[in-house]
Amino acid sequence: MRAMTARRVAVVGGGAVGLTAAYDLASRGADVVLYERDDLGAGSTARAAGIAYDAYAEDVDVALAERAIERFRAFSGAGDFRFAHTPYLWFVTEGGAAAGAIREQVERMRHHDRDVELLDADAIRREFPVLRADDIVAAGIARTAGTVDPVAYVDLLAAKAREAGADVRTGTPATVALDPPRVNGEAYDAVVVAAGAWTGGVLAEAGVDVPLEPIGCRRSSQTVRPSRSSTTRRGSITLARTRAGSSRATASRHPADPDDYDGDADEAFRERTTARLRERVVNARAPVQRSWAGVCARTPDNDPLLGEVADGLYVGAGWHGHGLMRAPAAGERLAEDVLGERDGVAAFDPTRFG
Ligand SMILES: Cc1cc2nc3c(=O)[nH]c(=O)nc-3n(C[C@H](O)[C@H](O)[C@H](O)COP(=O)(O)OP(=O)(O)OC[C@H]3O[C@@H](n4cnc5c(N)ncnc54)[C@H](O)[C@@H]3O)c2cc1C
Repeated sequence: MRAMTARRVAVVGGGAVGLTAAYDLASRGADVVLYERDDLGAGSTARAAGIAYDAYAEDVDVALAERAIERFRAFSGAGDFRFAHTPYLWFVTEGGAAAGAIREQVERMRHHDRDVELLDADAIRREFPVLRADDIVAAGIARTAGTVDPVAYVDLLAAKAREAGADVRTGTPATVALDPPRVNGEAYDAVVVAAGAWTGGVLAEAGVDVPLEPIGCRRSSQTVRPSRSSTTRRGSITLARTRAGSSRATASRHPADPDDYDGDADEAFRERTTARLRERVVNARAPVQRSWAGVCARTPDNDPLLGEVADGLYVGAGWHGHGLMRAPAAGERLAEDVLGERDGVAAFDPTRFG
């Protein structure tokens, strides 16, 4: 652990991760300035569907996800923010390797004390009558899961960060430089870059290369017959019932330019997901209400970049479409790392690619 404590800290990015880091830094006594080039949440965060779970198979992922859910629950009830408990169900319709993978995942998650179990088609029908389950070969269910409103999370954490003394500046693009760490020419003890899919570009301007690739993520939402809460995943499609009578679907991801992407999902995607929702959800006759798209960022090994990447320069990015659900823990870990309270997560070391 570093002996020196950084006091004056800049955070670049006013999404879920940057706002959480700003709040955790300020509430621990740091003098924090957050730079957001647009409005708070204007990047990927406001576009997230709001699904959150702790069903991971690796110990480092479990630790982050468990802490994130714990904090979501602790924040729930403050302002408009709520954590709505909703089980997460994922399944396949083919046997062989795909079914074996689910059984193996569930076993590994249980090894890490996650509240997950295997369900067969009959059990799914009993618990989620809204789902057509006849063709389901293997399924896992994570009981410690839920949904959050990403905009309410942004509003809450921005209010908490300001209350703790952070100077949150919107409409203020940041340019980062090093030796010493600086933002827009102003020197800091540490700079935290949590600029989502733009992180690679922000760091490159400071002369630091990280392997972050921006990718597109798309979602559709549709009203279905109200039923018990359920969230299901099938291959690259997600049906996520996030409030009474609605479901959402997502398709696979593709490379994207974060400064030039279409915020609406295309017609072919809408038709495909409508067909899939109708196939899976009983009485889902209503048309898709809304389809939208946004950008996420991925790394070569699918793990995020979390920690110090150069002297006094920290990064939290590369969430592969799972950044909102991990933000409460990721921002906290960044704050602890910057202030020397705790070492970073070795597996997420942002310098691991050399
Ligand atoms: C359609 C869709 C659905 C999703 N659904 C889910 C879900 O259900 N659950 C989940 O966990 N995740 C989901 N995600 C992923 C999730 O949205 C992201 O992983 C998460 O929001 C990342 O948060 P962030 O704070 O890292 O980045 P962002 O929210 O992108 O914030 C980065 C901020 O940095 C700002 N910025 C960029 N450059 C600069 C600069 N130079 N100076 C100042 N500011 C700058 C941007 O304007 C932006 O506001 C979804 C994503 C999409 C697109």
